[in-house]
Amino acid sequence: MDNVLQSFLNPMAICLTQEQIEQIYQHGCVSYPFECCGIILGSINYETSEPEKIAVELIPTENVWNAENAVIFGENGENSPRRRYAIAPQVMLNTQKNARDRSLDIIGIYHSHPDYSAIPSEFDRRYAWSGYSYIIVAITNSDVNFYQSLMKVCKQPNNKIVHSYPLLPIFSEKSGVFPHTINIHSWCLDENQQFHPEPIIIK
Ligand SMILES: [Zn+2]
Repeated sequence: MDNVLQSFLNPMAICLTQEQIEQIYQHGCVSYPFECCGIILGSINYETSEPEKIAVELIPTENVWNAENAVIFGENGENSPRRRYAIAPQVMLNTQKNARDRSLDIIGIYHSHPDYSAIPSEFDRRYAWSGYSYIIVAITNSDVNFYQSLMKVCKQPNNKIVHSYPLLPIFSEKSGVFPHTINIHSWCLDENQQFHPEPIIIK
């Protein structure tokens, strides 16, 4: 069955690792107060009872939103990448080609919402593609402070970042001890071209 049709009939979950969630979160923190964006490569697993999207690799991209894009997208005046993001078309094409060479697909796009909820904007909806997962992470100033303090702890005397720092507890109610929650959600268009929440499964 066509993937797009399939996703309308059976909203799929998207599976990410905790490291991938943190990669999105960190990209959002280092890009703050601007929106970050990136491409999600993966595949659809039809082996499970309910088909699932599996994220295999995240490709961080540059947010190229600028005054010129604002005109192209009919968003006159929205010149700042604080409230919009754009991925260069050539980057999308190259990534698609690279993915196909590895028998993968672009299965979605992630971006951040600085000082805003992880809910898609009307702009996000208007330019979304059917079948793609749109993962949004909300980033506030306190996330950035948290991330920076975490990085300080993780730096060795020679200032190299150690990547073995403890994984961030994503659900504070589960960890109980460390009340830092990553506010992240995934969305997919439904048959009425409206965003529908899509479950994120952490594997
Ligand atoms: Zn957005």
